[in-house]
Amino acid sequence: MSQNQNCIFCRIAAGEAPADIVYESEEIIAFRDLNPVAPTHVLLVPRKHVTSLHELADAPGRAALAEALLVAARAVAESEGLANGYRLISNIGPDGGQTVGHVHIHLIGGKPLSPRLI
Ligand code: AMP
Repeated sequence: MSQNQNCIFCRIAAGEAPADIVYESEEIIAFRDLNPVAPTHVLLVPRKHVTSLHELADAPGRAALAEALLVAARAVAESEGLANGYRLISNIGPDGGQTVGHVHIHLIGGKPLSPRLI
């Protein structure tokens, strides 16, 4: 379901670019971040090309995609053994620090994280 040949996450979802995939469903693909900031750093990515979580909020099929992201987050947290907790982050737009323009949620854990976000 690749919609944008210039988008690296579309290419990964289509199997056209390499990734260390840890979870797949009809709607979601999850793979390890190339530049991990913690022992577990996985990106939860809808296969459908939507620019950010902000745009997802009014995209067709938004409810199913939001649910699928939450289900994927829990499944990955469990398969990664993050019983003590973890963090979900979605950067949105330039001021939010978003560098890849395809909606994704970072799942970060495997060590105690600071309560301070920045
Ligand atoms: P963001 O800055 O929130 O848009 O996050 C984009 C993330 O994607 C960064 O943490 C990058 O390290 C990661 N990233 C970029 N390209 C790839 C790739 N080909 N495979 C895995 N992670 C990637």
